[in-house]
Amino acid sequence: MLLFLAAGALIGWFYGQLLWGLLAAALLALAWQVRQLLSFDRALRTDNFDDFRIGEGIWEQIYSKFRFERDRGLRQKAVNRQLLREIRNSTDAMPDGAVVLDANNEIVACNRAAKGLAGLKRKKDRGQRIDNILRDPKLIGLINSNDHQQSVEIPSPITDGDWLNCRVVPYGAEQKLLLLRDVTERIRLSKMRRDFVANASHELRSPLTVISGYLDALSDAGDLPADWVKPVTQMRNQSLRMKHILTEMLELSQLEGAGSASRNENIDVVQLLNDVRIDFDRPADAAEIKVNAESSATILGRKAEIESVVVNLLSNALRYTPQSGEINLTWRSSSDGAELIVKDTGEGIDPEHIPRLTERFFRVDRGRSRGEGGIGLGLAIVKHVLVRHDAELEIKSEPGSGSEFRCVFPPDRVKVATPTALS
Ligand code: ADP
Repeated sequence: MLLFLAAGALIGWFYGQLLWGLLAAALLALAWQVRQLLSFDRALRTDNFDDFRIGEGIWEQIYSKFRFERDRGLRQKAVNRQLLREIRNSTDAMPDGAVVLDANNEIVACNRAAKGLAGLKRKKDRGQRIDNILRDPKLIGLINSNDHQQSVEIPSPITDGDWLNCRVVPYGAEQKLLLLRDVTERIRLSKMRRDFVANASHELRSPLTVISGYLDALSDAGDLPADWVKPVTQMRNQSLRMKHILTEMLELSQLEGAGSASRNENIDVVQLLNDVRIDFDRPADAAEIKVNAESSATILGRKAEIESVVVNLLSNALRYTPQSGEINLTWRSSSDGAELIVKDTGEGIDPEHIPRLTERFFRVDRGRSRGEGGIGLGLAIVKHVLVRHDAELEIKSEPGSGSEFRCVFPPDRVKVATPTALS
């Protein structure tokens, strides 16, 4: 540039016009730079550098820096593309469906299994709201709730008789990952187990009715030899116990098979607690039962089932509380729902047993429970009734101080009585 300007100055000086010479040289230099700039811009836009004259000096440096960065960018792009291909191949190889949803529950991406399981189409369904495609209310509730521990089971939207387990986990910034798993086999097996238990209980009931009928007749007959009285009484008691076991097994399998409880009945819980307390066949040496009605709210559900919950919890409380103890049946409600609490001051339960109490046939002390008429199905029935009513069972207990069984109902199962207008 200096040489160029010096040449311009020399020519100008030769003709006695030093300044004009300099100015003309500067303008020519500027014009060349603008031309280079325009040609670089064109090359950038067309990605064709064949016509670009690199020259020397600053343009050579700019061009080599640009080439270096561009090559690095291309290399990185190739690496990213390969990585993306691998991620897609691995998500496609997954047997579970995965659907990425944005903050508006619109589909961002999904893998191949999501197509096979739920009929989602990668390109066509991108940008669609998931609840326009998978319309199961349980799934929509799960997606809208922020509970990432929960999962729901829904019928397959594309294959009759198939079932999907759905989970939603947080993913990226404000995104969610919907995971779909085929659980048809598990559901089929548990239905088979349920049907087997229900059928076996049903089939056993008829012969048992005949046996216990004859035993009733025998023990009522006055001419029974003296040494047969005790065995016949024992046989009669055991057949009654077997009948009780079969009835509870049948009840449990029916509860397990049923879905959510209907909301047709409006259950007056205070009335129900009082009725159960009065009607309960309470042994003479049993602890006292008190009802604390802190709310007049009602439950929307099945009355017979809620009554069975109260009866089961109350009979346990009576069984494990001494005469000097106290049993409290409490009903209270708030804007968060309502609680039905059965609290006793009995012997309590060791914390290690609490997680297993609702398992079928689980008893802390098998021999003792059997002696007192327990069969270990009561709390399993309670749990299933509560599940059907979208409620939860919370158990608190301390050995020696008593136990508290808390049935927590969600607000949509609770109807708060509207206050009567003042006249
Ligand atoms: P069961 O017919 O044996 O009472 P449940 O399913 O109702 O069966 O209860 C399971 C076990 O939980 C019982 O065997 C008992 O050990 C324990 N349990 C239940 N309720 C109480 C309670 N209120 N106090 C102490 N132990 C209890």
